[in-house]
Amino acid sequence: MRKKIVAGNWKMNNDISEGLKLASEVVNMAADEISSDVTMVLITPYIHLKSVSDLLKGSENVFLGSQNCHEQESGAFTGEISAAMLKSVGTQYVVLGHSERREYFEESDEVLAAKTDIVLKHEMTPIFCCGESLDIRENADPYAYVKQQITNSLFHLPEEEILKVVIAYEPIWAIGTGKTASKEQAQEMHASLREHIAGKYGATVANEISILYGGSAKPSNAPELFACEDVDGGLIGGASLKSRDFIDIAKSF
Ligand code: PEP
Repeated sequence: MRKKIVAGNWKMNNDISEGLKLASEVVNMAADEISSDVTMVLITPYIHLKSVSDLLKGSENVFLGSQNCHEQESGAFTGEISAAMLKSVGTQYVVLGHSERREYFEESDEVLAAKTDIVLKHEMTPIFCCGESLDIRENADPYAYVKQQITNSLFHLPEEEILKVVIAYEPIWAIGTGKTASKEQAQEMHASLREHIAGKYGATVANEISILYGGSAKPSNAPELFACEDVDGGLIGGASLKSRDFIDIAKSF
């Protein structure tokens, strides 16, 4: 059975008191309203991780995530954070290859392969982001493009390691734009990615990997997206900053 996951990427929002308020609202509402088969993840800025980790102790369905991680174990990388540091404060999930990091920080497929390795080595779950730009959607083959991202960054993994990865398909044209992929567009891409994984690892492995949708998901469109056969939840940006909206999205399965 694939995990159902709703992960909220706070990006560079919320100071520590706002972050703690949001996290405690989510934890309290999740305890009352979210069924135990749904995993929720709070993907906070680095400086919030330890405090939110303390706050999540005792929560059964809300987990802690980081927005990034450096690919080296340690060393002279000013301003960066290591997998061991993230693990030491109780981080369980690490987002890798968000389109904002690919674009603004020039993260390549090769670097993301190394980041995936180090996150797995430190026994955390990578949430590996992929997705095409509007230009690729309109003028090229978005399926081939996204499959290539997965091939380049994940297909070096042995079967037992790829089974630990969560994939987030996030069409760049839908992130923060208010434009959401239709349920048909989301399902078609998710099914095509699953088929791609099955081609390399077999259908049993492909059927075990959660593939999340990201891109302007909100309470009003989450039910139809999550009803798609190959959509196993969402990576949520803007709507994860409001506890009520984030919880309502997690109730949409
Ligand atoms: C994201 O940045 O991963 C995202 C999906 O953002 P939004 O929900 O705001 O489009």
